[in-house]
Amino acid sequence: MAGVMIVFDFDKTILDCDSDNWVVDGLGFTELFDKLTSAMPWNSAMYIVMGKMHSQGITIDDIADCLRKAPLIPHIASTIKIAHSLGCELRIVSDANVFFIETILKHHGLLDCFSEINTNPSVIDEQGRLRIFPCHVLASSSCISNLDSCPPNMCKGRIIERIKANAEEGNNKRIIYLGDGKGDYCPMLRLKKEYFVMPRKDYPVWELICCDPSKIKAKICEWSVGEELERTLLNLVRLINFVEDHKAGFNDADAVIFTALDCKFQLVALSPQEALALPVCL
Ligand SMILES: [Mg+2]
Ligand SMILES: [Zn+2]
Repeated sequence: MAGVMIVFDFDKTILDCDSDNWVVDGLGFTELFDKLTSAMPWNSAMYIVMGKMHSQGITIDDIADCLRKAPLIPHIASTIKIAHSLGCELRIVSDANVFFIETILKHHGLLDCFSEINTNPSVIDEQGRLRIFPCHVLASSSCISNLDSCPPNMCKGRIIERIKANAEEGNNKRIIYLGDGKGDYCPMLRLKKEYFVMPRKDYPVWELICCDPSKIKAKICEWSVGEELERTLLNLVRLINFVEDHKAGFNDADAVIFTALDCKFQLVALSPQEALALPVCL
């Protein structure tokens, strides 16, 4: 194994709110949106609300201005930049849409840190209306794990299967997956024991995991606020990189990583010589 691939959810994991709600509330369409979401899938309601905004004279620039004001999770911008500079490959898997995500990441100078954004496609038509389409449109694309927690337009588990294949081909990267929502449960279920999941504590994905934690094969490293996300993620990246760099000295690199995690990352503070002595006492 060599290197780390970090897969981020977007809303409430990078952004400190839900981008769809932020735009709908910020531009005064909350009531309509609530009425629509009680009768149809979220993604379809967003499509209709965008049309309504356009017919009432709200431009794509108004929407972009609103998105640029959305708050990021504290510390996430520096965390993303540091992880990128440590050589991690970063990807996004989100049920928002291309326009929202790219506008926000560009505004914060983070877009170039990501090698891939998997989300609902969006186009600005000739009239200047934003049209958001479902990520999956075929019935055969329903949830790969047969869960109710995946919305009809996107099964992130299906997307993570392809990402897993990418991570495992060539230099065999370890995946770390971060998310907060119900839709992040399916991809977390599909990661094997050499990988890591970082569910946001007390959010919907956390509740689903707590129903039966043994269903998650990957190592679970929870977080609640930005500071904790930063510390946990960067320590994990440094730990994995350290163990990979000194792999020749370890009988079992996975055991070293998991033991260090259970000891709250004390390995990170050790010198290579001290760390090399560790497997002997495992
Ligand atoms: Mg989310
Ligand atoms: Zn699914």
